[in-house]
Amino acid sequence: MSLADIIQLLPDSVANQIAAGEVVQRPASVVKELIENAVDADSTQIKLIIKDAGKTLVQVIDNGKGMSETDARLSFERHATSKLKTADDLFAIKTKGFRGEALASIAAIAHVELKTKRPVDETGTLISIEGSKITTQEPCSCSTGTSIAVKNLFFNVPARRNFLKSNSVEKNHIIDEFLRVALAHPNIAFYFYDDEVEEYRLEIGTLRQRIVAIFGNNYNERLVPIEEESTIVSIHGFVGKPEFAKKTRGEQFFFINNRFIKSAYLNHAIQNAFEHLLSRESHPSFFIFLNVDPSFVDVNIHPTKTEVKFEDDKSIYAVLRTTVKMALGKNNITPTLDFDQEQSINFDYKPKDGIARMPQIRVNPNYNPFDSENNKGHNFLQNQNNSIRNQSNKSNWEKLYESHQNETETSVTSSSFVETIEPTQEVISSSWKNDSTESSEKPTIQIHNAYIISPIKSGFMIIYQQHAHERILYERILNNIENQTAASQQLLFPETFEFNSTDAALLNELLPEIKTLGFDMDEFGKNTFVVNGCPVNISESQIKPVLEEIIEQFKNNSGGADLKLSRNQKLALSMAQRVSIKAGKHLETSEIRNLIDELFACQMPYATPTGKTTFITYTNEELEKKFKI
Ligand code: ADP
Ligand code: MG
Repeated sequence: MSLADIIQLLPDSVANQIAAGEVVQRPASVVKELIENAVDADSTQIKLIIKDAGKTLVQVIDNGKGMSETDARLSFERHATSKLKTADDLFAIKTKGFRGEALASIAAIAHVELKTKRPVDETGTLISIEGSKITTQEPCSCSTGTSIAVKNLFFNVPARRNFLKSNSVEKNHIIDEFLRVALAHPNIAFYFYDDEVEEYRLEIGTLRQRIVAIFGNNYNERLVPIEEESTIVSIHGFVGKPEFAKKTRGEQFFFINNRFIKSAYLNHAIQNAFEHLLSRESHPSFFIFLNVDPSFVDVNIHPTKTEVKFEDDKSIYAVLRTTVKMALGKNNITPTLDFDQEQSINFDYKPKDGIARMPQIRVNPNYNPFDSENNKGHNFLQNQNNSIRNQSNKSNWEKLYESHQNETETSVTSSSFVETIEPTQEVISSSWKNDSTESSEKPTIQIHNAYIISPIKSGFMIIYQQHAHERILYERILNNIENQTAASQQLLFPETFEFNSTDAALLNELLPEIKTLGFDMDEFGKNTFVVNGCPVNISESQIKPVLEEIIEQFKNNSGGADLKLSRNQKLALSMAQRVSIKAGKHLETSEIRNLIDELFACQMPYATPTGKTTFITYTNEELEKKFKI
């Protein structure tokens, strides 16, 4: 009597479902695999159609080489590929696909309909598969090329289906994948339809034309070409001029042998090439293509393949950095800033250690540009005559401070302080506030245009101005949103802004909330918004950066989003981060006092909304110890 053997081979359908988990995480994965197959099939036209963010339909139609009846049937078998024949080929991959598992995986977890015909064939082949089972296979009439429709993704994997995010999130992933392939292949026309609506129409052209077609006409003037041939790598593409660098990391694309990749290491090379040309928080856009001998790249690390390993990455880093640096130099891009265009209030701006930073606007909550006769036409003057403008700004500004100082004095004494204060901190804030000396007489100094030092009863404190101001603005803006009291200033001339369709969709979704910030804006045709008014505490030139910051905040799980902030909190955070006084900004004594007063009128003065320290203290005791008194 022998015990029954218990090891069994998994049926193919089960093995495919398991593999599918690796290859297909979401509708965007299907989009990627199908489009890449279409590219590999030498198509010149590729059409992507989605419904319901790809959850009910992802269809890709190409005019490529098609498949024979047998190949069509085989294409759904696991490890069936026409792209690798020997193990050696693995080390020199030129096509996008090579594992031969995409179609098998997709067919295991969706309803798939394939129609395909080769140029030489009279009739094509139709195959329908549901959860790896073929339900139809018959000749059909169709045009040359291949159409694959993937319906009801994850119909048999409820756990996966339930894990999918909202339609706007899933669609963003799809757009990302679509654009990555579309950028890599300007020699192929791409069309993208979402539920019958045409989202992108990208005709065959040059790389520059493709970038402009995707990101908008204003990109044309922003692109600096780069080009380099060396023995280990050849590089071509574009980097964005530094003055158009963004707070968002959005438009950064690396392609190795036409395959989109992410590489923090190469990113660093670019950032390094832009050294001294960018402020600390902005990121250049780039569209960079690296070509290396395929046998020196290992794309095989992960099935979804955005990571690569390549030999000699140090040399590639060096070549890339130098190439970009030289291109920037050649195009005479020096660290200049056009203050007049960028900023309406920018007197006494002093770049610290020669690094140009964007001047930041200072904010006064009581500032209403329409209050006084003098202020009227402020925006208008700004465009008319700079010298008049600057004078009027300066005198207005001083007035602002006069009125504001009076107010803070009353508000400081009357504001009730919060309960949640740690004891030592309470001492500090109350010692600042209750000190019998007028706040205007308390000595304060600013050092390195970044830190403020001021004595307190029990010692002294050092405030980091940028963090302090971020906290102040955050609370004020949040308060305005929640009480719907954000004031809006009307623009003399409404401005329109264009966004890429991902960002535009997100903005649309957030529009009601953005309005509570004081933006008087509406959608204005495809991906365009018209702004009639903006919050009183930002200048016209800050409208776009603030909106971009909001988009970024809601797009990525970066920075503040990790903190599980509410939507209102995120909005307030975006704006506070964007318009706060930055380190490097010289402050007048009155501004410093104001900053301190307002900081200690905050509910939570000790840290920024993202948890960074706003001030530290040294007690007399600590000082005495240090000096051995
Ligand atoms: P891989 O792309 O890794 O080879 P896939 O599962 O994605 O694996 O595709 C399997 C095979 O099906 C491909 O190798 C190719 O021969 C064929 N195929 C898939 N899509 C197309 C298409 N759009 N046009 C022509 N052939 C295709
Ligand atoms: Mg493939």
